[in-house]
Amino acid sequence: MEKYHVAVIGGGPGGYVAALRAAQLGLNVVLVEKASMGGTCLNRGCIPTKALVKSAELWREMNHSETFGLSAQGLSFDYTQVMARKNQVVATLVGGIDQLMKSKKITVVRGLAELSQPGKVLVNLPGEEKLEILADNVIIATGSEPSRPPIPGRDLPGVVTSDEALEEGKFPARVVVIGGGVIGMEFASIYASFGAKVTVVEMLPAILPNVDEELPKRAVPTFKKMGMEIVTKATVKEIKRQDEELLVVLEDAKGVREVVCDQVLLSAGRRPVLTGIDIEKLNLKVEKGALVVNAKLETGVPGVYAIGDAVGGIMLAHVASAEGIVAAENCAGLDSSIDYRVVPNCIFTYPEIAGVGITEQEAKAQGLVVKVSKFPFTGNGKALTIGENIGTVKLICKEDGILVGAHILGPHASDLIHELALAIEKGLTGADIAHTIHAHPTLSEAVMEAAHGLIGKPLHQA
Ligand code: FAD
Repeated sequence: MEKYHVAVIGGGPGGYVAALRAAQLGLNVVLVEKASMGGTCLNRGCIPTKALVKSAELWREMNHSETFGLSAQGLSFDYTQVMARKNQVVATLVGGIDQLMKSKKITVVRGLAELSQPGKVLVNLPGEEKLEILADNVIIATGSEPSRPPIPGRDLPGVVTSDEALEEGKFPARVVVIGGGVIGMEFASIYASFGAKVTVVEMLPAILPNVDEELPKRAVPTFKKMGMEIVTKATVKEIKRQDEELLVVLEDAKGVREVVCDQVLLSAGRRPVLTGIDIEKLNLKVEKGALVVNAKLETGVPGVYAIGDAVGGIMLAHVASAEGIVAAENCAGLDSSIDYRVVPNCIFTYPEIAGVGITEQEAKAQGLVVKVSKFPFTGNGKALTIGENIGTVKLICKEDGILVGAHILGPHASDLIHELALAIEKGLTGADIAHTIHAHPTLSEAVMEAAHGLIGKPLHQA
């Protein structure tokens, strides 16, 4: 029987990237996937939601076409077609990953993998058959699934998680989103852009925790204008069905009330999936449902690595991929470690939000003396030409000028953030960014202006 250098369990952005890197380093790789390649990210996460975000953006813009001197009449949307386009994008990308695996000579086995001893993966192939795979190293990349909080009524028809919401062909005209985190707010923004009445219920005092507090605060007026009601410090007591409608019973400072809707989206976090992984037999350490690993992504059991959502922490596709690269390199005998200091966090709401490094609140909590500079998109020529002037670039540097945090609310925040991620990664100062010539007219000039603010004053500010 052929013995592989590496067996990867799970074909999400953690697993398939680990397989690619291992193959690049000359290792003989097998990857086991029980469903479609691309995992949550391609099939039920990043990509499908962003396809919907684009349709929602176009719809919003078409409805404001008169601002651009255009007249568009008789506008309508067909949600099944919106979903069909999303499915097409997903299918193209999934097919691309399949091709990539083939071209890199990575063996892909379809089936549920079981791991109960290092170096031996048992695959339940479709049907009754089982396949035994031997490998020097195993990388567990089994991902995560939506949590379903124990709210009475959570199993009623019409109560969905992001998984089902992305399969739904019918547009929900009234939605209650339980959980104002990233996934909840992205869906809320998509639904509200298409004209749904959206109520977001968040337990904490504010939506989008872990983001510089100023950005969600600045975004909330736009969210409300789009038709969202945001109820914070609130809990959902029960969900009831009444004929065709759902009633969500919630309690906040004002008391108990019912919100009528057509769909309830449960977006109260995700939990690692460890199906098929025999934690006890392997003697793996688990904390809060996630596998415990060190910076080399080693589990402590020789030859067994774990990466991505399965290890908890920052549950993002690019983090899973970065961890996959580190694990693969260590399988190849290199000495790689993961560094989580600079991880861009992008939220694809309207307006968009992105951040990297520390927030102003974290700087204060750490007792750091920092300088903060902001530049609004209202002062940026390109933002005005594209009709997207909501938001601001906020930069944070230490006393020595070194950039430690960057937070953007506004157009293309998720693209703009990478210049700042690189700056923080490389220990650059506000002066380094300000003295780099930025092309005109671009949104990036807002970054340069905010950097000027760190060493003096933005130029285009009264
Ligand atoms: P997954 O992508 O979950 O892949 C795990 C794979 O393992 C799955 O394909 C599964 O079928 C397979 N598997 C599990 N167990 C077994 C087994 N025993 N045998 C065989 N196969 C198995 N992140 C971002 O960075 N940007 C975004 O914009 C973003 N948007 C998101 C939107 C939504 C709605 C959701 C739900 C998530 C989003 N995420 C986003 C998070 C991102 O999708 C995950 O962090 C990422 O997919 C994790 O990658 P992974 O490889 O660890 O796991």
